[in-house]
Amino acid sequence: MNKITDIKLTDSLINNLYRIANKNYIIMEICGTHTVAFLKFGLKHLLPKTVRVIAGPGCPVCVTPQKLIDYAIDLSEYAIIVSYGDIFRVPGSFSSLEKVKSTGKDIRIVYSITEALDIAIDNPTKMVVFLAVGFETTAPATANVLIKAKKLNVNNFFVLPGHKLIPPAIEYLCSNGVKANGFMLPGHVSTIIGCSAYQSIVDKYKIPCVVTGFEAIDIITSIYKLVEQINNNDAKLDNTYSRGVKWYGNAIAKENIATVFRTTDSEWRSIGCIPDSGLELNENFHKFDAMKKFDIKLLNSTTEDNCCRCGDILRGIIEPEQCANFGNKCTPEEPIGPCMVSSEGTCAAYFKYGNIY
Ligand code: SF4
Repeated sequence: MNKITDIKLTDSLINNLYRIANKNYIIMEICGTHTVAFLKFGLKHLLPKTVRVIAGPGCPVCVTPQKLIDYAIDLSEYAIIVSYGDIFRVPGSFSSLEKVKSTGKDIRIVYSITEALDIAIDNPTKMVVFLAVGFETTAPATANVLIKAKKLNVNNFFVLPGHKLIPPAIEYLCSNGVKANGFMLPGHVSTIIGCSAYQSIVDKYKIPCVVTGFEAIDIITSIYKLVEQINNNDAKLDNTYSRGVKWYGNAIAKENIATVFRTTDSEWRSIGCIPDSGLELNENFHKFDAMKKFDIKLLNSTTEDNCCRCGDILRGIIEPEQCANFGNKCTPEEPIGPCMVSSEGTCAAYFKYGNIY
């Protein structure tokens, strides 16, 4: 499909949406890239007033608990700390990796965990700890590299495990009275886990769900299909991103995750503990677990962000403009909470794109 066809189709779908959207709809997306795309394409301003799209807990950096950042900061006393760029500015209880790096600690940003393993191989006399955050999208890379590190018998490479799983988070939202009546499901995560991972949620909660890609037409098509399902009172699992997402996902990626990790209850920042929503290293990979290797005890970690309403934003209870700090005390230059730090955080996306159309 070319861009002109895309624009004509999007236009036609929006017109049809105005025709069928005859009551109030709240659709939740659970993907930082969807948050950004929805605002950047100006779709928020093109929808009928009755159709609201709200963001859920889809920004992996935003849901990484302060305690994990505190651990990484403490470990910088003993090891080179490596992670993805987005996490560097996120505040822990008292500081951030960025601030600690400015005091001289060896903390490095990489695009891929493969680079972190290379740093360990190149520095055999030093310990290297990779802060492994992200959803099912980044977990396969962590698994692949740990399988490789095991084969190469690398003894100075460790992982601080912080991966989280999306379907248990959706289940948590549903079982705790989320005010959405349909879910736009994440495209990247779904390429790994497949559509089948959500079927039990649709069956149990009778809530419309559509796996969605990242072009304007993908998002509008999904919104249209969700509104249709809600109108027909017919909750189904649909997929408008079939060019990227298959029913069972990526078998090799899932197998590697299962080889290295097992599920565990996990703390989501500003939300709380969600059952079976995290990944911890299984016994065969314990030697790479930084928590076990260094036995760090945190005495002063906090669990709440004072004055920050990220928890309410991540559960779709409020939108960023409803936080008193938004745009004045809290900006991307001077962020208070993680939702304003990450480029895919809801507050940062609203700040950057919310009023440009
Ligand atoms: S605007 Fe800032 S303080 Fe308010 S919820 Fe967002 S990140 Fe937190």
